[in-house]
Amino acid sequence: MTGIEELLRPELRGRSPYGAPQLDVEVQLNTNESSYPVPDEVVAAVLAELERDLGGLNRYPDREFAELRSALGTYLAKQSGIHPREESIWAGNGSNEVLQHLVLAFGGSGRTALGFTPAYSMHPILTETLGMRWVDGQRDATTFDLAVDSAVTQAKGVDPHLVFLCSPNNPTGSALPFDVIEAMLVAAPRALVVVDEAYAEFARPGTRSALELVADHPRLVVTRTMSKAFTLAGGRLGYLVADPAVVDALRLVRLPYHLSTPTQTIARVALEHADALLGTVEAIKTQRDRLVGELSAMGLAPVPSDANFVLFGGLADAASTFQGLLDRGVLVRDVGIPHHLRVTAGTPEETSRFLTAMAELVPTHAARKETP
Ligand SMILES: *Cc1c(COP(=O)(O)O)cnc(C)c1O
Repeated sequence: MTGIEELLRPELRGRSPYGAPQLDVEVQLNTNESSYPVPDEVVAAVLAELERDLGGLNRYPDREFAELRSALGTYLAKQSGIHPREESIWAGNGSNEVLQHLVLAFGGSGRTALGFTPAYSMHPILTETLGMRWVDGQRDATTFDLAVDSAVTQAKGVDPHLVFLCSPNNPTGSALPFDVIEAMLVAAPRALVVVDEAYAEFARPGTRSALELVADHPRLVVTRTMSKAFTLAGGRLGYLVADPAVVDALRLVRLPYHLSTPTQTIARVALEHADALLGTVEAIKTQRDRLVGELSAMGLAPVPSDANFVLFGGLADAASTFQGLLDRGVLVRDVGIPHHLRVTAGTPEETSRFLTAMAELVPTHAARKETP
């Protein structure tokens, strides 16, 4: 006993850090990264720009990352049809940092945050470690859907200061009905409503983005990332779109010059090559839909997905199936939902490796069906 535990802020005592295992396994389908490397032409373009930057590293980076913001705006206009003003865009080292900026500015001790779980585990971690009270809102226990009525009743009961909606939702995969987002703005009248759209680019056709609502709703924030569809998890660039007054508030809490010059350059050049980087999105969606189809044909219970992963149920014991897959060289994610595992859609070959391993395991690992 070092006594350090007693020095720690009370809300941190006894906690364990966030972290998916980073194991050296042949087929890594556990963190929803892209399996595809950054294309050579993009690597070459980034290198050329970085070379120009490096001699200037004696100076601090552009604190307002103006060129990057402009590139983000151009990309969003193309991807979603909505072109936010540059004053409405903010960025950080991953959307996790952007989410932390939001909690620093709009959360804090004595305040309450609401999310509907199972959802992204960083939402409660970010809020609770900064002293907020976290309320675990509920979804339907079998489909993981969130109905408008239920969301509204729960939000009214809590009257939160911050609401996290994750759409498409990690770890369950489905996007939220658009009216849940609209209803939340009414049901939680003093809350900043954050819609985490980390997987927006993978959504099935017809899925509406909360970006549509930002211009008319100053309490609505949409966060996105380059970590998933852009195949740039190592680049650490996330961003948000919100009312300019929200963005102004984030300037109070960000560290000075939080986006390094190389980070800004890598992200900006990547955005200029958006078509090349997003070229694998359709291939990944095909593997995702294949996962849903084949897992269901095996008698398991995959959840419909708008993301680059699939949550599936129907297992007798998730931990032993996780180990069975690992023994076969396939790493997936045990997200702590009983009888379920989450698998990222990889290349066709990786997806086949996973499905072959699952087919071997199913006879002994599937939950017994109740016989009537
Ligand atoms: C992966 C993920 C993120 C991305 O985090 P970054 O910090 O941008 O890498 C954000 N939200 C959700 C729901 C995610 O699954």
